Amino acid sequence: MSELYSVRMRAAQGGPHENGGHHISGAERIVKLEEVGSIAQSLAERALHHSKGTADFINITVDLIPSNEITYIDCLQVEEHRANTIVEAHELAIELLQGPHITEVAIQNAINFLKGLDSSMRGAMLVDATTGKRIDEGKRGVRVSHMDSFDSESLGDNDHMREALVLASKVQSADGIVGELCWSDDPDYTVGYVACNGVYHRIPNMKELGSDIGGRVFFVQSDIDSKSVIEYLEKTPVLVQR
Ligand code: AMP
Repeated sequence: MSELYSVRMRAAQGGPHENGGHHISGAERIVKLEEVGSIAQSLAERALHHSKGTADFINITVDLIPSNEITYIDCLQVEEHRANTIVEAHELAIELLQGPHITEVAIQNAINFLKGLDSSMRGAMLVDATTGKRIDEGKRGVRVSHMDSFDSESLGDNDHMREALVLASKVQSADGIVGELCWSDDPDYTVGYVACNGVYHRIPNMKELGSDIGGRVFFVQSDIDSKSVIEYLEKTPVLVQR
């Protein structure tokens, strides 16, 4: 089997992220050697034609992944839901996430944390699924990386949905994570989701059309070893299979 490479792109406007540039786009793939060039090109194109603006800084990183380091996981099941308003969407999110592992307080806090952001974070917040307290430190959040799907195209032609499904599948496969809440920072994209119990619940109208503030919350059990969970989310190469 040919070697696999992780190809990751991040793009910003007003200089690099680390110098205060505004984040425009980020995406990544795990692909065979012969696809590295074309995928790097398509990721660069994406950063240059984004509804959030044109990037003036694009960083593309490529690394070889030794094949024995890859973890294979199953894709979440997908369920589509309806909601006519943001209030309805958030009520549905609460109903779907609430259960033996996640309290209503934790979900309500998570929604309020996302609604209270004055700019989008790069990564996700970690929230204790019982107490609803935020446990990650700093403003960046946990940035999930090094994942793709084995046969990415079979997950559909909607980039947003495919990438979110891959990310959510990796997140739910982490020990101690019991749920996720997400809405996009893309102003055109108001569909969000919650993930729990092996299901990705796609929910429309999770935020105002035109808002460029989005975010993610990962609900974690109180007793997790957060260092090793973060290490898995950020560094372990994962391929999602159907
Ligand atoms: P997106 O669905 O790409 O618009 O992302 C929505 C929000 O989720 C962003 O504003 C970030 O706060 C967060 N986010 C995006 N990508 C990641 C990632 N790879 N890991 C963790 N959080 C992310």
